[in-house]
Amino acid sequence: MNPRRAFLLLVVVLVLVPLVPGVPIFWITLLGNVGLAALVAMGLVLLTGVGGMTSFGQAAFCGFGAYATAVLTTAWGWSPWAALPVSLAVSGGAAVVLGLITVRLSGHFLPLGTMAWGLSLYYLFGKLDLLGRHDGLSGIPPLEIAGHALTDPRAVHYVIWIAVIAAGVLTTHLLDSRIGRAIRALRKGQIAAEAFGIDAARTKLIVFVWAALLAGLSGWLYAHVQRTVTPAPFGLNAGIEYLFMAVVGGSGQIWGAIVGAGLVTLMKEALQRIVPALFGNAMQLEGVVFGIVLVALLQVAREGLWPHLARFVPGRPRTAPAEAAPLARRMLGAGDTSRPLLVLEAARKQFGGLIAVNDVSFKVGRGEIVALIGPNGAGKSTTFNLITGVASLTSGTVKFDGAVISGTSPQVIAGRGVARTFQHVKLEPEMTVLENVAMGAHLRGRSGVLASMLRLDRRDEGRILKEAATQIERVGLTEHMTKPAGSLALGQQRVVEIARALAMDPELLLLDEPAAGLRHFEKEALADLLKRLRAEGMSVLLVEHDMGFVMGITDHIVVLDFGTKIAEGPPETIKTHPAVLEAYLGGAA
Ligand code: ADP
Ligand code: MG
Repeated sequence: MNPRRAFLLLVVVLVLVPLVPGVPIFWITLLGNVGLAALVAMGLVLLTGVGGMTSFGQAAFCGFGAYATAVLTTAWGWSPWAALPVSLAVSGGAAVVLGLITVRLSGHFLPLGTMAWGLSLYYLFGKLDLLGRHDGLSGIPPLEIAGHALTDPRAVHYVIWIAVIAAGVLTTHLLDSRIGRAIRALRKGQIAAEAFGIDAARTKLIVFVWAALLAGLSGWLYAHVQRTVTPAPFGLNAGIEYLFMAVVGGSGQIWGAIVGAGLVTLMKEALQRIVPALFGNAMQLEGVVFGIVLVALLQVAREGLWPHLARFVPGRPRTAPAEAAPLARRMLGAGDTSRPLLVLEAARKQFGGLIAVNDVSFKVGRGEIVALIGPNGAGKSTTFNLITGVASLTSGTVKFDGAVISGTSPQVIAGRGVARTFQHVKLEPEMTVLENVAMGAHLRGRSGVLASMLRLDRRDEGRILKEAATQIERVGLTEHMTKPAGSLALGQQRVVEIARALAMDPELLLLDEPAAGLRHFEKEALADLLKRLRAEGMSVLLVEHDMGFVMGITDHIVVLDFGTKIAEGPPETIKTHPAVLEAYLGGAA
């Protein structure tokens, strides 16, 4: 079954369930609860499974949505529909505030931060008079359509599931776009994302707010279905359950959220009946059994359930369109050709007492291939990080095309036309080669969040994918285009990184050990490619240990040893330079 048919089947089943005579109302109510939970879990899939940000506090955003509409419809007499935008605004606004603080946290501090506000908001909901303290608010009106109150669970069922399907479609569209690739790039850490100009902080905030809006919508629906709100469903426990749903469903898959929400909701319901019957009511062991079952489940299906189900609905990987208008290109050599493209002036980097780069100065001219060589630990990768803005200089300056770029951000430097590859490959292994390379063209696309969700980005997207395919062809990996990047040999993955860097349409290309792991003929192909790029006017700075490779293509070589430049010059002089021989052969010569 293809994904489109599976989706239609899901919709048909959801439409028919309430119409089947004899289906107990209780089941329909339960299915509605699954839908409410799925909305929240979907946001968490995006936040945690795709973006790599673990949140235990998602239930609090349901609380904002639920309490906002509860107050407006009971105390102020608003209609539920009029309160909907306010519910969403309150959840979204809270996400902006909490997000600005939280997404800056890294490692364990992020989930801990979400726990902290998950807990404190729960207590806040229970302490405010306006929100009815621990008793909450009751007498909330039901939803109304054309004067008809939706009190029948069957009617409510349709409203809930229309919301879930719409949210799923919009979120799927978002993921399958330029912004979606930016979100997925976050998982490899900020450094990779920012290297092709993605504003990591902004992208995280977008995800954070969208996830909160879905939770707020769920909360708004919840309030008008239950007709009463209390703090309990919005506390830390609920937050942990939502996270379970996202993980059990399959942490990277939007539609897996429905599976996770279904499983967790039904299991809780079943355990609440079975466990007391087995062990008696007094012990209240449901929670314990629930935890054990979930942990056991995750042992069996580490990636969640969705990947196992998805095998029955194999999707086809995205391909580039056959025809698309080419993206605008940078004019290489358009700047002042009399001055060098890149200039390092006494660049210095200290890590505590260690001087990794010691007042190093050198230049890269336009249309030149320059190599940075030296033994391991000489400071070559650190120099790359100083040029690309990943690390800040202790002193000295880096100039690009006459302007000082040191002190600006990696995105700004990427935007000026500096692209790089990494010594330790930073690709998204589950994404195809094509999608990974398309990430490189991020700055050359325009479409934003809304356009992506509404599928108004297809032209823009087609041009980006076409460009990615062109660069993949250029580096000779066409046959691997639709394979997951992680399935390629490590040497080839480095070449994928080169294609991704080229997709940025750079003026300066920084390659950190590009030939490592390549076979002889692959190295020759890479050398040919670099020479062709030079002929087109591109400048290349590369770190490489293969001296045959370096000597064959470079115009100029800079030699580092223990952070200090010990020699520079054309290949012929470097080959026989005494200080270089000393550093490489340890004085044996
Ligand atoms: P190369 O790429 O030439 O092999 P690096 O630039 O990776 O060398 O490292 C140069 C020196 O700086 C090494 O001694 C390394 O241990 C140290 N170094 C690199 N990055 C860091 C860091 N983030 N913190 C502390 N020391 C570092
Ligand atoms: Mg290195």
